[in-house]
Amino acid sequence: MPLMKSWLAAANDANHPFPLNNLPYGVFSTGGSEPRCGVAIGDMILDVTTAEAEGLIDLTDEPLFDLPFWNPLMEQGPAVWAALRNRLTSLLAEGSQDRDAVEPLLVAQADAEMHMPLAVSEYTDFYSGRHHAENVGTMFRGPENALPPNWLHLPIGYNGRASSVVVSGTDIRRPWGQLKSPDHDMPAYLPSRRFDIELEMGAIVGTPSDGPVSVQEADDMIFGYVLLNDWSARDIQAWEYQPLGPFQSKATATSISPWIVTKTALEPFRCDTPAREVELLDHLKDCGPMLYDIDLAVTMAPAGKPATAIARTNYKQMYFSAAQQLAHHSTSGCPMNTGDLLGSGTISGPTKPERGSLLELSWGGKEPLTLDSGETRSFIEDGDTLTLTGAAKGKEYTIGFGECVGTVLPALTDPYAR
Ligand code: CA
Repeated sequence: MPLMKSWLAAANDANHPFPLNNLPYGVFSTGGSEPRCGVAIGDMILDVTTAEAEGLIDLTDEPLFDLPFWNPLMEQGPAVWAALRNRLTSLLAEGSQDRDAVEPLLVAQADAEMHMPLAVSEYTDFYSGRHHAENVGTMFRGPENALPPNWLHLPIGYNGRASSVVVSGTDIRRPWGQLKSPDHDMPAYLPSRRFDIELEMGAIVGTPSDGPVSVQEADDMIFGYVLLNDWSARDIQAWEYQPLGPFQSKATATSISPWIVTKTALEPFRCDTPAREVELLDHLKDCGPMLYDIDLAVTMAPAGKPATAIARTNYKQMYFSAAQQLAHHSTSGCPMNTGDLLGSGTISGPTKPERGSLLELSWGGKEPLTLDSGETRSFIEDGDTLTLTGAAKGKEYTIGFGECVGTVLPALTDPYAR
């Protein structure tokens, strides 16, 4: 795919995250204004809410962008998704006749505060990164039982909490929880000492379902993708996770990047899942390339210190695609809704620098990392800022996701103080 040129010159740079080929959707405010819908182009945001109010965008009888989230567009389905993208492309393309009308609706990203881009209806987290599952399984259960017997047959998941999904830039308070050290007989309620990140992609369901859907139907339902950091308290997790899986260890917060990158923008970067080790049942079989070649990275910065790159990997390391996860989610008849968020599971690659969590990078704390500042880390310390980035790289352009950032604040002295 060639670069589509915009009259905003910055958007035409091959390395810029937001060219005309991307057009990711977010919600922003400026100077304390009401949050509104916008699309990123170059270093600017086009105010889509105002563009619709002024008649520059006119897709449906009822307004789509008068609420500060993208769900009303998401539930319209692929024909309206495509119509909006076509209209935005025509407004922003080189030579556009609407340039004079559009220019006053542009806001500098540097001047904008970003908000949650969608109302998350429910959040489900999967565990479909093979290298991550093998690394964690090896640490928790030994190399012989690293992968549970069901792992290669279905995307393992659990129902998380929509209430604690937050937008990038939100500070994260270190949680308290019940944890048990191997050296003590009894558990104790304490601040987590092994607070961690999980580098994931989030898939966002656009159109709803009622009853089982095929993998192809599931792919058609997906509206777009975000970066997702599933903050995890490993000490709480280790004590609580059997037999029903993680609960409070993953409930503190899940951060997402502020821009929803549409499935359409990612189309040129589709790639296959890895070779199947066991044949999947028919309803989960691959039916086309449904992963994406997206470079992912994590940096860690102690308070007041420069950031150190601690991990680099790629979304194509997943074993199951988001479409397979969504199809599996529906097999029981479970209805899926507009605004459902599916976490991929931690994405790690085969080598050590490709590990998507500190649990893996420090091998359970046995091999601390050394940061560029000279400090060492096994898990997150108070004041550390963790940043996820992601980009699909074409020859002529980049489809960037922006950043998913969070700074960890000290635990409260007494969480029950009123
Ligand atoms: Ca997770």
